[in-house]
Amino acid sequence: MLEKIRAAGANNPADAILTVDIGRLNELKEAGVLQAVESDTLRANIPQHLRHPDGLWFGLTTRARIVLASRDRVSADEVTSLTDLTDPKLKGRICTRSGKHPYNIALIASVIAHDGLEQAEKWLRGVKANLARKPQGNDRAQAKGIYEGVCDVALANNYYMGKMATNDKKPEQKAWANAVRVQFLDQSGRGQHVNISGAAVTNTAKNRDNAVALIEFLSGETAQRIYASDNHEYPVKNGVPLSDLVASWGTFKADTLSIDEIAKHRRAASMLVDKVGYDDGPSS
Ligand code: FE
Repeated sequence: MLEKIRAAGANNPADAILTVDIGRLNELKEAGVLQAVESDTLRANIPQHLRHPDGLWFGLTTRARIVLASRDRVSADEVTSLTDLTDPKLKGRICTRSGKHPYNIALIASVIAHDGLEQAEKWLRGVKANLARKPQGNDRAQAKGIYEGVCDVALANNYYMGKMATNDKKPEQKAWANAVRVQFLDQSGRGQHVNISGAAVTNTAKNRDNAVALIEFLSGETAQRIYASDNHEYPVKNGVPLSDLVASWGTFKADTLSIDEIAKHRRAASMLVDKVGYDDGPSS
């Protein structure tokens, strides 16, 4: 998307950009293709830590990067924090997708932001040592890994549980979802890491007012309800109801470290993934 916008230059036809992950929003910001937006509606609908301080991007949903734990093989109190993922009792029992995927980069960046680079390296080495296999596949494939007995604990964004549990086209995914329990992390500490989906206005927008109106609509009651009911994400707007499935997991305390702060450590996170050889898997 960024390459397309860059190539089009002033002829870029896009007025607004919708995307997922702070990493992608941040790359657009750093490339200088966004413009600041002032909007009382957006300020009212979106909490401060979920939007750029100068209005360059706006979070529209949050998604928690949770632990999925085997219902049969993991007890409820066994994995309750990111630190628990490094416990030697989990050796050979963790599945994740690539450490380089934006979802994992943001998670690792949050660890760097909270604990510092040195601690984060120790942590990531600990998780790597507990991997059951080389990181591979998407988030759903990790739930499948638990279903198949390849591993007992996985990392995934919460909405994939909803997507799997309600998948009538691929009913085998319902079995994957049934094999796992949702575990929010760090509830007695800094809170569960969350990421965002979001929107921004391009700096070449020819229909700037309409672009802002669209993003305002997406932050409002009607659209926020759809994000919650159809995509099983957490709406950013206060008071909008969750999907029944998401509500069934109960409430959780989210890490309120600003998303913009997390983004500042993404490069360091990416280098750390290479340094510890995370994607080589457990044995190297
Ligand atoms: Fe996703």
